[in-house]
Amino acid sequence: MPQPSMPSITRRQQTLKTWIDCVGVGLHSGRRAHLRIGPAPVDTGIQFRRTDLAGMGAVIPASWSHVVDTRLCTVIGNADGVVVGTVEHLMAAFAGAGIDNATVEIDGPEVPIMDGSAESFVFLIECAGVAQQSAPRKRIKILKRVSVSAGDSSATLMPSSVASIDFALDFASPAIGRQEKSVVLSEGAFKRDLARARTFGFAEEVEHLRKAGLARGGSLENAVVIGENRVLNSEGLRYGDEFVRHKMLDAVGDLYLAGGVVEGRFLGVRSGHALNIQLLRALFADESAWTLIDDDSVSDDWAEDWDDEAVLQATA
Ligand SMILES: [Zn+2]
Repeated sequence: MPQPSMPSITRRQQTLKTWIDCVGVGLHSGRRAHLRIGPAPVDTGIQFRRTDLAGMGAVIPASWSHVVDTRLCTVIGNADGVVVGTVEHLMAAFAGAGIDNATVEIDGPEVPIMDGSAESFVFLIECAGVAQQSAPRKRIKILKRVSVSAGDSSATLMPSSVASIDFALDFASPAIGRQEKSVVLSEGAFKRDLARARTFGFAEEVEHLRKAGLARGGSLENAVVIGENRVLNSEGLRYGDEFVRHKMLDAVGDLYLAGGVVEGRFLGVRSGHALNIQLLRALFADESAWTLIDDDSVSDDWAEDWDDEAVLQATA
């Protein structure tokens, strides 16, 4: 059995020790896909490769600059029109596990939804194991407040010495209502507080999406479904406030498309994929709003969060 704990936060870049795979269906396409994740060299980041398509044109960097659609999920694509959809839960698992560099191979256009959360991907990463690499880890430090909004929704990044996420949502359905939560993304927090929260939808909306050829893979096996103001899943919820936790999971995954750990505070109000990605675009459009730090220049504030052994390893 793999170790139950997430790897410790480190100041060195990390990748996977070995390859590992799974099979599942895409939430929107309903297509079965084989997903493999494995090691990648330092400074390559997370890269997706469509193995059902030939050549180098089938590679897509997991970057905000390659996001091509955010309407129902986060879709990345390249100049050749090659796309991979629903990357956010897998990206959240990489962020939560502190994986900087990885190769993701997939033989179709959509990452399998698994159980609707990031739990299966966290499990895969733990089974594969985490390998330390020689180069220091890069962080994107937020230097000033950046905010985007649409109607009554907003997404904001602000300076903070620790990565944290605050989220608020409200739905008319009493099955969800108003939910607010704050999480400091310290070691183990993602796995403990967010990873198991499932995606959710309304039964009437699912019908509408199906008629449009979407949500074809959606079922009570991989989503919390709300109908007639109650949760239809017989097993109920995994957390009392599973809905806001899933939106936070989505934000963690979307923010990891920044290309590194965002060192700052994220505040989401009814935010979704579109605003999360718009926020990254606004951030990177303003060079005075952020700076790239590698951990050789770690601040004293930040160093307090590390245990001595990790600091020794990183400075050795
Ligand atoms: Zn999601």
